[in-house]
Amino acid sequence: MDSPETEQHFAAMHDFTAKLRQPSAMPVVRKYLQWQREVRAACVKGVTAPEMPSIGPLSINLDLTTACNYACDHCIDWDALNVAVRHDDARLREAIQNLVRRGLQSVILLGGGEPTLYPGFGSMVRFLKELELQVAVVTNGSNNEKIAEVAEYFTEGDWVRLSLDSGSDQTFQDMHHPKGRGIDLDQICSSAQGIKRRNPAVQLGYSFVITWQGSEREQGAGVVENLDEMESATLRAKQYGFDYISFKPFLTRAEEGAEVMDPDQAAEDREHLVQRLRTGLALAKAHEGKYFRVVDSINLRVFLDGTWKDYTAQPQTCHMQALRQVLSPLGVFNCPAHRGVEKGRVGKLDAWADAQAEDSINADAHSTIPAVQGTTNLLTNFNATTECREVTCLYNPVNHYLEKLVVAETPLEDLLDGGPDCGDCFL
Ligand code: SF4
Repeated sequence: MDSPETEQHFAAMHDFTAKLRQPSAMPVVRKYLQWQREVRAACVKGVTAPEMPSIGPLSINLDLTTACNYACDHCIDWDALNVAVRHDDARLREAIQNLVRRGLQSVILLGGGEPTLYPGFGSMVRFLKELELQVAVVTNGSNNEKIAEVAEYFTEGDWVRLSLDSGSDQTFQDMHHPKGRGIDLDQICSSAQGIKRRNPAVQLGYSFVITWQGSEREQGAGVVENLDEMESATLRAKQYGFDYISFKPFLTRAEEGAEVMDPDQAAEDREHLVQRLRTGLALAKAHEGKYFRVVDSINLRVFLDGTWKDYTAQPQTCHMQALRQVLSPLGVFNCPAHRGVEKGRVGKLDAWADAQAEDSINADAHSTIPAVQGTTNLLTNFNATTECREVTCLYNPVNHYLEKLVVAETPLEDLLDGGPDCGDCFL
């Protein structure tokens, strides 16, 4: 059984509705909903819809680079790694400043590439913290010293999560294939301690994507099984002073590009697989303590209780694509599930930077931000009911909640009751 601390942590991390009702998010959410009501009303009347107000995503996934020094067999972004496209650092900063003016609250540095390989990684972390953003880093652990160097800038609520997916070095090597100098699991875990030493406020996480025989990244690309190392990974995380370990089931990429859960992709029958997963989780949870948590992701929960299909029934409009986006060297995308996929493209890599800067020859050029149009277009044309029908979407409940607020006849102020500040703006 979950401890009350774990339940609280789990509920807070995944309650996106509560996050949107926080005082810091409400102004953007209110403007967004009001605008959506006006757009729908204009559509009914057959008149021109109003332009998007001066808002943007509250939270972004910022992929600093597509470069990676590993070749993980289960990497969902395998085809988009190490491509010859880069951010222009100045344009990227301009885009982020625009987003802050439009309400941005948090940035997660992760993506199809290892963020610490970005040449200006430390400088970017400092820049983001100077803008008073919440910052999180998802890393493969190979450059923990670079994170430790800027750890002092992190504040309460920021976190660093290492994607390790193994309890033994053998499995780590077999799954991740680190390139270059001798990188091993012990060395990664001990260098991670340096981050915590420099700043105990940083929440340090050990991420474990559970894999099993028969799972494939894509057709014919099998994945090494790690399911039996859930407990040994938990013991390792606890021993090295991580604050938590989080378990997620393996996701694969569907033919049309979306990240999807496929419980039938296994060499054993689903019931047997679920039983093994439950056993692994129970063994891991036995090691929870006051200062160490075992977090089973919402994906894992719905995988185990068989309700994962419920999360594939999306409303036609995905509202979250306006409130959380992915900025990557490949472009700006509406959702991590469609990172690098054309139908989810908001715009080019600098779409949130000001277009006027590109056109300095014409000093009178009207200042526009291409991503405003890109977001508007997707809200009109991207039908999540069909485009995301295979995705077990964690944002499904909050999307339905927002849709209800858009279509309700009641004035918004009577429906939008603000919630408490939960100190977590990551979406
Ligand atoms: S419905 Fe879910 S999976 Fe689809 S774009 Fe929106 S958040 Fe992403």
